[in-house]
Order: sequence, then structure tokens, then C-alpha cells
Amino acid sequence: MADPFPLSPSLWAATAPAAAPTPPIDADAEADVCIIGGGYAGLSTALHLAEQGISAVVLEAHEPGWGGSGRNGGQVIPGIKYDPVEIREKFGPEAGEALIRFVGGTADLVFDLIARHGMEVPFTRNGWIQGAHTQEMINTVKRRAGEWQQQGVAAKVLNKAEIEAALGSNQYLGGWLDPRGGGVQPLAYARGLAKAALKAGARIHGQSRVAAITRSGNGFEVRTERGAVVRAGKVVLATGGYTGDLVPKLRQTIIAPNSFIVATRPLGDNLAASLMPGGQVSSDTRQLLLYFRKDHTNRFLLGGRGPFREPTSDADWAHLERVVAKMFPQLEGTPFEYRWCGRVALTRDFFPHFHEPEPGFLIDIGCMGRGVGLQSAVGKAMAAWCASGKRADLPFPVVPIEPLPFHALHKLYVSAIIAWYRLTDGGVK
Ligand SMILES: Cc1cc2nc3c(=O)[nH]c(=O)nc-3n(C[C@H](O)[C@H](O)[C@H](O)COP(=O)(O)OP(=O)(O)OC[C@H]3O[C@@H](n4cnc5c(N)ncnc54)[C@H](O)[C@@H]3O)c2cc1C
Repeated sequence: MADPFPLSPSLWAATAPAAAPTPPIDADAEADVCIIGGGYAGLSTALHLAEQGISAVVLEAHEPGWGGSGRNGGQVIPGIKYDPVEIREKFGPEAGEALIRFVGGTADLVFDLIARHGMEVPFTRNGWIQGAHTQEMINTVKRRAGEWQQQGVAAKVLNKAEIEAALGSNQYLGGWLDPRGGGVQPLAYARGLAKAALKAGARIHGQSRVAAITRSGNGFEVRTERGAVVRAGKVVLATGGYTGDLVPKLRQTIIAPNSFIVATRPLGDNLAASLMPGGQVSSDTRQLLLYFRKDHTNRFLLGGRGPFREPTSDADWAHLERVVAKMFPQLEGTPFEYRWCGRVALTRDFFPHFHEPEPGFLIDIGCMGRGVGLQSAVGKAMAAWCASGKRADLPFPVVPIEPLPFHALHKLYVSAIIAWYRLTDGGVK
């Protein structure tokens, strides 16, 4: 079957170090744990299992990092959509505090892994800036910064002049700086995780799409499309926004819209200095958020909404190129070199979901667009769950698989939601 989502047009595929060989699985195999999906979640699970001497086989339909993990904006942002006070309200003081510590530490984990395994990953750690696009959002970002300050984070509120100087754009009324954030070359990081997992003893097979998972004795048989079978005591499924129909009704629990990104050619020194001179990464408070940064080659990239379907021509990115010109007039006339997109997995309650449809079979789904840190940390937690069998090792509760109502209409939902948010978000889009 032709690959409908080639990686080749992305900036990351063009600038990542070569991948380690991950040949297709061509014979039956046994492992303690079989992991389906070679994104950050699956690769981090494999790495953390192998480090404990637990044998792991990863089966990936394409190549490690082919999904969201090799296509994203590379912004390493701690936290989830919910702020500490909301988390405590929802989970209670004790479990809430544990979850706040977990989500607050996700960026640390990424940079620790890069350092500890000597990964060949271009990165910066100068913080994440969130711009407020309305007066109401100024209050939100002030509250957010205050809540993280209470947790000991040196968060800083930015006024209009400060954010304008930090971003090189006058489009925001204010914002906040979270010093824990940073940027990575995302495909290099996925490949770095894969290399570290292989070195620790995990087996990773690309071009090995899983077609069926069946219970067998105390464990499972995981069968690939080409017929090879992995027998494993436990199974972890982490197929993110590319989840298919392996598990009944699972795909119907998420909406998986495409997020689109454009990248300029490398900027000259003066132009580069006029944009985000502090080297932070940034996204904003819109419902259909915009995210932007410079990369290690001094290219400027900006991502945001796009059509739900796969793109058919460069015209599908034209709205983002107009946004760049409006927000950063100094870039007017700078050619765009790369345009690509990828799917994010969104749940209805905006929390990542764990499911355990059968004892020993764990599913992680719903990265909510913050997966660089979150999915790396979730992988580590899933490895702990594999080792202990205890749900208490997972950061979020295990919940039943509950399809979204009228999921068959989700493309229409997404289009309607996008149209509505475009009206209500106002401003540049
Ligand atoms: C355009 C874009 C921009 C983003 N920007 C950011 C950002 O700046 N910061 C941030 O934190 N997050 C961002 N995200 C989100 C982040 O990329 C994801 O949360 C994260 O990569 C998800 O990792 P994952 O391991 O869950 O899934 P994925 O990386 O999507 O991996 C899932 C894998 O499962 C495989 N698979 C599917 N079905 C099967 C099967 N049957 N058998 C075997 N393999 C299968 C797929 O081939 C795929 O490789 C962005 C996402 C996109 C798409």
C-alpha cells in the first residue's frame, strides 16, 4: 500500500540524524512486553523496560517517529491543559499533588533522557512563552503563572512590551514565561529514544503493522499484517492520532485532527535576531492555538489549524503563511521551504486516557498536543506498570473505553468547531 503520509516533506526528516536500523519482524518472537506504536510513548516504554532487564518488542507500522512524534513543533512544554488548582479539585489533594508533580516534571525528563543517553538531538532550554490574545486571557495566564509559582516554578508574567520584545511580534497583550520549557528537533529525539532503547536491549521493528491482538493462556499473541506473531505476557498500545481499528471502539474515543506547520528557509543573522531573540518556544491561548519558534538551523516555523483531510496542495498551508506575514511583518517575502502536518489525538475531557480492556493489556491514548514531554513520561510510567502490575504506577486513572457520541460525524464536528473557534478566537486567523 502506498504510504499516505510520507515524512519526506518535513523539515525534521530533512535535518534529523540517520535512524538506527529497525527491520521488519520476519519470524515469531517472545517477549515480556509487546509494544504497539513507535512514537515517544512506545519508545520510552521500551527504553525504560529494557533498562530494568524486562524484554520488550516494539512493532511500528512505518518507522520509529513516523507519527506525531516525528512531525510535531518540537516544543517541550510541561503540564497539561489543566492548571494545578483544577487538577487538585478534580483528583483531590493527594492524587492531585502527585499528578501535578508528574505533569510538572515532563520537560525535565526529556532533557534528562537526551543528556543521559548522549542523544544526537539539537535542543534549547530557554523556556516556553504563552501569549495571551485577549484581555480575559491575560487574567488566565497571570493565574496560571501564579499557580506554578506556588509550586516553586520561577514563572514570570510578561506585559505587552515584554512579550513584544521576547517574540518580535506585537500581536499579544501579555503572557507568561515558563522556564521549564524548551525546544528539540522532534524526529531526532524520537530516533534518539529508539537508539537508546535498542542499546539497552529492546527490539524494535519498523514496517510491522499489527493486525490482531488475541488472548492466549496467561498472555497475548500479537500478529502483524505479514503474519509474524509476538507472544508476550503484557501488551502496551500507543498508536496516538494514528489509532486504527485494532481495538473495538477505541478510535471512536478520540478526535484526531491534522495540525499543519510551515517553515521558512534559514534566516540571516539580523532577521533571526529580530525574532524570539531569547531562543524560547511559544504558543498562544487561542482555542485553535498558534505555535512558533526558531529551530537549530535558524528557520522560523509556525503551526496551527488546517483541513481535517490530508493535504492536497501547498494551498492547504496558505492560511498559515498569511498568519506569519501578519504576526511577523519582518518575515514578509521570506520564502517557505517546508510544509507538513500530522495528527493529534484529542479526548473529550482533555485528559490523556488509559484503558485496560483485559488484564495485562494497557492502552494510552489522547496526548492532547503536548506529547513531547507527556508521552515520554507516560512511557516511563507504563514501563513501571508493566513491571509492577499496579495501576497506582500510572499517572492518570484507568477508564472504560467510551466512544464519543456520533463519532461518525467527527469530521463535521471538527470542521464546525474550527469554524466556530475562528470566529470567536478573533485576530490573525
Ligand atoms: C503537527 C503537530 C505538532 C505538534 N506540536 C507539538 C509540540 O510542539 N509539543 C508537544 O509537546 N506536542 C506536540 N504535538 C503532539 C505530539 O507530537 C504527540 O503528542 C506525540 O508525538 C504522540 O506520541 P505517541 O507516541 O502517543 O504517538 P505517535 O508519535 O503518533 O506514534 C504512534 C505510532 O503508532 C503507529 N501505529 C499506528 N497503528 C499501528 C499498528 N496497527 N501497528 C503498529 N504501529 C501502529 C504509527 O505508525 C505511529 O508511528 C504535535 C503533534 C502534531 C501532529
